[in-house]
Amino acid sequence: MIYLDYNATTPLDERVLAAMLPFLSTYYGNPSSLYRHGRLVRSAIDTAREQLAALVGVSAAQIIFTSGGTEANNLALATLSPNAGFAVSAIEHPSILEPAQYLTTQGHDLTLLAVDSNGTITQDAINQLISRQPQLVSMMLANNETGVLQPVAAYAEQLKANNILIHTDAVQALGKIPVAFNQLNVDLMSVSSHKIYGAKGCGALIVGKDVTIKPILRGGGQERNLRSGTENVAAIVAFGKAAELAHSELNQRNEHLLALRTLLEKQLATIPHLTIFAQHTPRLANTVLFGIDEVDGEMLVMRLDKKSIAVSSGSACASGGSLPSHVLLAMGVEEGQAKTAVRVSLGMSNTAVEIADFVTTLKSLITQ
Ligand code: PLP
Repeated sequence: MIYLDYNATTPLDERVLAAMLPFLSTYYGNPSSLYRHGRLVRSAIDTAREQLAALVGVSAAQIIFTSGGTEANNLALATLSPNAGFAVSAIEHPSILEPAQYLTTQGHDLTLLAVDSNGTITQDAINQLISRQPQLVSMMLANNETGVLQPVAAYAEQLKANNILIHTDAVQALGKIPVAFNQLNVDLMSVSSHKIYGAKGCGALIVGKDVTIKPILRGGGQERNLRSGTENVAAIVAFGKAAELAHSELNQRNEHLLALRTLLEKQLATIPHLTIFAQHTPRLANTVLFGIDEVDGEMLVMRLDKKSIAVSSGSACASGGSLPSHVLLAMGVEEGQAKTAVRVSLGMSNTAVEIADFVTTLKSLITQ
């Protein structure tokens, strides 16, 4: 199989697997237990926390481990005070958009921040928002479909000057670009392990030093009372190791991905009626969202699957329906063209040969 869907999920790095395996067998203790078998496991969690903290430039105490990016996003929105207004961008992942919609039924006023035709949140949207004085704004750092990077640091600085809390969903950005919590001027940030070659079902919310959050899970008081539930130890250890590797290998990974994407886009340019969305906007080095006029994206994904090539149409996390991508619609792409969208997202183990095979197969499928 040629796997070209790394924004959906990544395979577990072998080094990460090696680090987590002992915590699925030998070291099975409960980290809350006071005896040595438990303390040893607790110290492995502490190490993972330090490793993740180093990747994003915070202190370990600022990290709350969760079951993934979805939970971290839900937890971030749960900071809202009763009836407080808030805003999210129109291109957020469903794990922000859905809880945001739910919160409107609970008395919170929601503003959707518009994006321009390149998929970037507009300065106008930010300017207009300030007069509404929301308590919190959530804007993602990198979009999962287009890969477009958002000017979070600049907007956050402006919003913070008006005492507005900022959350960023950095799930897709982590491990692909430098993600420094403090330089982003944000108060809350979500990350996820399975996008950086860690295990699925583990993520974290990074919390600013002077920010108070409210738990959505109550119970045994783990994670400083902010996320109860016995820790997913092996997955947390894996997240730590994956973070350590992403930290030390970031430049090398980025160079590889950018070289492959340049090659891919050059070859895609030879296909008539093909558009690469947001091509000339700062994007993640691994992501290409394209569409071929009159060719249904989902059908292409299915045909490519028959040739053992895995890509996604629109957002993989939310796939299953045939609705056009909400991200492309927000960019002003008309519905017909939005339905042509196919996303290729590259990863560490992809090769130039795979790119060439993909483009050859794609060409053969559209001329059938
Ligand atoms: N946020 C973004 C931007 C994502 O792309 C995803 C997953 O695709 C998530 C959040 C959800 O993360 P998780 O799968 O860890 O719940």
